[in-house]
Amino acid sequence: MINAKTLKLSVKSLKEFAKKRLADAELIALDARDECPLDIVRHMCSPDKLGIQLLFIPEEFGGFGGGAFDVYCICEEMARIDLGVATAVLATFLGSDPITVGATPEQKKLWLSRIAEEGLLFAYGATEPDAGSDLGALQTTADRVEQDGRVVGYRINGSKQWISNGGIAGAYTILASTPAGPSWFIVERGAAGFTHGKPEDKHGIRTSNTAALSLSDVYVDADRLVGGVEGQGLLQAQAVFGYTRLMVAAFGLGAGWAALDRAIPYSAKRIQAGSPLSEKQGYTHKLIVPNVARLEAGRAYIEETAERIDKGEGSLNTEGAIAKYMSTEAGNTAADASIQALGGYGYTHEYMVEKISRDVRITTIYEGTSEIMEMTISRDFEALDARHSTVGAGYAALALHALAEVMERARAGRLTRYQHILLRMGEWIAYAECAGTLARRAARMAEGQLSEKANQRFDAVGLAAIRADLRARGGPQGGPGWFAVDHRRRAGRWRRGRFRGRTESYSHPPRPGRTDCGYGFCCRRALRPGR
Ligand SMILES: Cc1cc2nc3c(=O)[nH]c(=O)nc-3n(C[C@H](O)[C@H](O)[C@H](O)COP(=O)(O)OP(=O)(O)OC[C@H]3O[C@@H](n4cnc5c(N)ncnc54)[C@H](O)[C@@H]3O)c2cc1C
Repeated sequence: MINAKTLKLSVKSLKEFAKKRLADAELIALDARDECPLDIVRHMCSPDKLGIQLLFIPEEFGGFGGGAFDVYCICEEMARIDLGVATAVLATFLGSDPITVGATPEQKKLWLSRIAEEGLLFAYGATEPDAGSDLGALQTTADRVEQDGRVVGYRINGSKQWISNGGIAGAYTILASTPAGPSWFIVERGAAGFTHGKPEDKHGIRTSNTAALSLSDVYVDADRLVGGVEGQGLLQAQAVFGYTRLMVAAFGLGAGWAALDRAIPYSAKRIQAGSPLSEKQGYTHKLIVPNVARLEAGRAYIEETAERIDKGEGSLNTEGAIAKYMSTEAGNTAADASIQALGGYGYTHEYMVEKISRDVRITTIYEGTSEIMEMTISRDFEALDARHSTVGAGYAALALHALAEVMERARAGRLTRYQHILLRMGEWIAYAECAGTLARRAARMAEGQLSEKANQRFDAVGLAAIRADLRARGGPQGGPGWFAVDHRRRAGRWRRGRFRGRTESYSHPPRPGRTDCGYGFCCRRALRPGR
């Protein structure tokens, strides 16, 4: 792991670089030309320039050895700049993951050092025309080439679909079926029989290169089989799902905030019916507030999962799925609401929210679709519920208890045979888990225990209000919730409530049978402007 100072410096360099080379006007022009800025991607990956990928490479191979928390911070920042360029840069990380987790020491030294020293770009080749969510349907084959009874190499045949960096990478990890099962192989650009298609004409992330790959009798030596043992491919892929899903979760978070951070100042400047839009509840409480709440709930879950991965608690695949599901769905909704928040302007190519909303759409598709996340979450619900029996936050606990009841009834009534019911449970668990995590994050912040690397945009009271807002929106009252909005016309800007050392109790007395007022008014009092 890297220290907080180094991480902050890296984020700062990234921001400064983006300001110079990836300003909004340039990104909009690249998007219109459907162009991946290869020189910029190479600059960002070059060890003697920005060297982003050094953060992800272990120290022994020339990198900085960043952990899951560091990766989340960088991914969020990259996505705030541009999700297409972020995808192009981070595809190397994804492509080299099977090597990081499963390769032999010699393979790791060769390939990870090349990424660190040469800025070698990688691509991750799993998906096929007929094998997307279901990688078990894989049709690409790797046949053994034997000499004197010894396996000396493999011949790979098949095709891959939608591969990020497919047309620009220098090396590829390709999933193919061997006689002993799916396995990863490293194939270099230019290998005989290995070609890529033209860049896909995509809905969004048009600044990234996505291409199909074709492998026709491509020969690789036996030392290109990752780990040297056949049949380990799916296990190696699964070993990093928690980690890689966190990356995409951070993409959803960063892109969602990038959109909101354009909508919020717009709302303060745009005067309609005699006052700024930021003073109209019908606007703020529909288009801004719920999106802040959802994004920050996603962040809380990402951070908690990243810290647990960094502590060595395992790959945390289910938690990674919850983080991805919540943050990418939240990012999508936030970007869509930001278009609405800018009205007709938001609907034009000239305004970044339009581009961001097309870009962020991919985050609910790649690295596992939202429906597959719901399935993953719902399958593991019993284990999750047991692990988080004491969430320490009334409503989250109530929600989890209610869920436990529903799950038990569903199990007894054999309702989980119906996929729709199972997947809805995945959705509810994701929300309840995030509500609990958000409450815990607020408490940790109040106690000064939040990681010094963590995003500090909202203080403890702000986070508590966000949690209350999530509750109010999800609760039976359908109350409005509240967020710190500065109503003073002249200032017209968004403010944070000041921390007053309380995270769970507010100034308003609880209504009978409730732990708070139920309508978010208590939060409103706690966060009144100027307090
Ligand atoms: C721009 C882009 C970049 C990409 N980059 C890469 C990359 O670098 N490397 C790589 O290997 N892949 C990459 N992908 C592929 C991506 O991971 C897949 O598109 C994704 O996994 C979904 O697979 P699919 O497109 O075949 O959809 P399908 O699996 O056919 O799914 C179609 C729909 O059906 C739903 N569905 C599928 N199975 C079930 C089920 N059992 N129950 C209920 N619903 C289900 C899905 O949620 C989805 O809504 C990329 C894709 C895109 C578009």
